[in-house]
Amino acid sequence: MPVDPLTLLKELVAIPSVNPMGRDDAGPEFYETRLTEHLMGFFERLGVEHERIEVVPGRSNVIARYDNPAATTTILLDAHQDTVPVDGMTIEPFTPVERDGKLYGRGACDVKGGMAAILAAFSRIVDEKPSGAPNIVVSCTCDEEATVQGVVDLAKLWSDPARSGSLISAPPDLALVAEPTDLDIVVAHRGATRWKLRTHGKACHSSRPDEGVSAIYRMGRVLCCLEEYADTLAETIAPHPLCGPPTFSVGLIAGGISVNTVPDECTIEIDRRVIPGEDGTNVIEQVADFLRPRLDFDVEMLPPWVIGCSLSDHNNGAWADRLLEHIEAVAGPHQKLGAPYGTNAARIAVTGVPAIVFGPGSIAQAHTKDEWIVVEELRVGSEVLYRFLADVG
Ligand SMILES: [Zn+2]
Repeated sequence: MPVDPLTLLKELVAIPSVNPMGRDDAGPEFYETRLTEHLMGFFERLGVEHERIEVVPGRSNVIARYDNPAATTTILLDAHQDTVPVDGMTIEPFTPVERDGKLYGRGACDVKGGMAAILAAFSRIVDEKPSGAPNIVVSCTCDEEATVQGVVDLAKLWSDPARSGSLISAPPDLALVAEPTDLDIVVAHRGATRWKLRTHGKACHSSRPDEGVSAIYRMGRVLCCLEEYADTLAETIAPHPLCGPPTFSVGLIAGGISVNTVPDECTIEIDRRVIPGEDGTNVIEQVADFLRPRLDFDVEMLPPWVIGCSLSDHNNGAWADRLLEHIEAVAGPHQKLGAPYGTNAARIAVTGVPAIVFGPGSIAQAHTKDEWIVVEELRVGSEVLYRFLADVG
């Protein structure tokens, strides 16, 4: 019995799975638990092998597997379970509403739409058992929107011998990661390294500032240098043909305790986008090296909470071309392209597995206050996935 992707999507949107993204006041709509249980039930009813793998306490990946005894190829389809928070939304986030050919709700676009397209195509393969189907593993990963713990754990299942024994203990031949790409194929993207930089000073009463050292003044000098560093990036590092140049941005600043105290600490948060070929760990040292000769005081680099991992197009071209044929047969001209944002595909690709990103919906509607997806695009995306899978051989 074929599963309708729109029916599936409505079910998924109605189950909150908000990533707390570092908040400690997480309310009832937070975490993936209910969606994880729903997915376990879905695969149970479908009659395929499935398992729940706890990644960190209370947060799990769900993995399901279909085997075609004649297949020599294994394809992994990944979609993340979590969504961004719902603050400031102008629609009911967890009441899916269909209007004017669109389905509204948190996650409709990023990426429960992509997940519904995958689940519908997968269940059709399971039902119809086309002779050309590969072995298929579906992974529904947790924590994509914050610290990507779900996909990092997933990749260990085939790359870390100590973790063998799961439904995916050998590397797949291809990973297709769902994100809203407007049915284009993202074959390369940048990654982000994020860390805090802190200046230190000496606190004193603001009536005698000469007795202290202002960490905020120091940060001011750091920021001028960082602006210069950001400006030079495009000249010092050759842009990637699909992803463009690396970039640098300071997004947050905090310092001081009161107006009548010379501040002894000031902290900024940095977002450094790395392009394929760059090392996401090295960029922190690169920034430190740039600052050192320009300053007469030390700055503190705090450990990054995410290390940039980009997606390179060096080994996924043939797979992307095959998928593109099916996209164009169903939906007309589309393209292979690079993206400025990061995805789970990069964490899979670092293990050597070719990875591409594909899905219905537009990145422009991801994370928005009235998130939606075009229903027709959802259906087309699922149809494309079915045809691609049925024809892998
Ligand atoms: Zn996403």
